[in-house]
Amino acid sequence: MDLKSTHKSPVLADSVPMNKSRLGLSSSSVPYSASTTGYSSPGMYLTTPRRKPAPSKLDDVRVSASSPPQKKLNKEFGFEPESEEAETSYHTWVMKYPSALTSFEQITNYAKYKKIALFLDYDGTLSPIVDNPDHAFMSSAMRTAVRNVAKHFPTAIISGRSRDKVCEFVGLTELHYAGSHGMDIMVPLRELESTTDHPNSIRSTDKQEVIPFQPASEFLPMIDEVFRSLVENTNDIEGATVENNKFCVSVHYRLVDEELWPMIAEIVHDILKGYPKLKLTHGRKVLEIRPVIDWNKGKAVEFLLESLGLNNRDDVLPIYVGDDITDEDAFKVLREGNCGYGILVSSVPKESNASYSLRDPSEVKGFLKSLVKWKTTAAV
Ligand SMILES: [Mg+2]
Repeated sequence: MDLKSTHKSPVLADSVPMNKSRLGLSSSSVPYSASTTGYSSPGMYLTTPRRKPAPSKLDDVRVSASSPPQKKLNKEFGFEPESEEAETSYHTWVMKYPSALTSFEQITNYAKYKKIALFLDYDGTLSPIVDNPDHAFMSSAMRTAVRNVAKHFPTAIISGRSRDKVCEFVGLTELHYAGSHGMDIMVPLRELESTTDHPNSIRSTDKQEVIPFQPASEFLPMIDEVFRSLVENTNDIEGATVENNKFCVSVHYRLVDEELWPMIAEIVHDILKGYPKLKLTHGRKVLEIRPVIDWNKGKAVEFLLESLGLNNRDDVLPIYVGDDITDEDAFKVLREGNCGYGILVSSVPKESNASYSLRDPSEVKGFLKSLVKWKTTAAV
């Protein structure tokens, strides 16, 4: 099955051509990749958000700039620009995806008299991408920025990591968290519009009474099995790390000798042959194995908005900030629904459904601080 030709999702189409060849993956070697089929997702304890009607149209911030060739854009596998040529490409690209900092006034003009709901990815957005995924710590300055922004706007972290792990990294109880690419959400009971006797409420690790929403819960045994199998089979490959993210598994190969990347791809491919209900996606030097269910970060955004009573409201402006392929699903929801702004964190040009861009986590921090300053100084 050819990822690129079979699936229109920007998720794989954007990154795979380059990555696939570097990994030594032939078009037939990633069979369980992108399709989000109509597979039903039992175990849902709360209702799926209703499709919202398109609210007032947002200004389209895109301008007509021709995109640089994808081959050139993906040079060096998504690394930082290293040449003058790369820098020029970036400046051309940023005309199409304007900086959320330089366009801040435009964003806040639209947000005036609206309630901003903020959704943040974690790795590469709030924390730097590091060699060891267990060491992806956010700075204390970033933590302060997130804490402050959450005082003024409902704020959620949506990460591919397990919910517990991302909670631990961020360390702020006042936020909402969705782990496993949105497949593990706990909505605090106090946040729900109706708090009377919910039969599924449980006590979370941070002592809050919450309603769990885990649409992939039936996949837990399968994910555990695949995790163990991947650990066993990659054990001898120096630098390979397999991470159990509860409802998905990540195989990190950032520290693996490039010559061994094809071997990792084949191992993952061979294991997945036995699991047709799992699919493979490709992030920043990480292969991710997830259940084939119709659920992603975009659905998680819709779900959280509805749970918090913020959906279908013209006075709410959701903003989603993320750096990875999986964040595109959320950007797409906001763009297609004309209901908010996606902000892509990237220092290299890439096609995206986002409306704006920020170069790196440091600029994300600047943007969060600007939001607080705007909220506290402007009469909005
Ligand atoms: Mg990320």
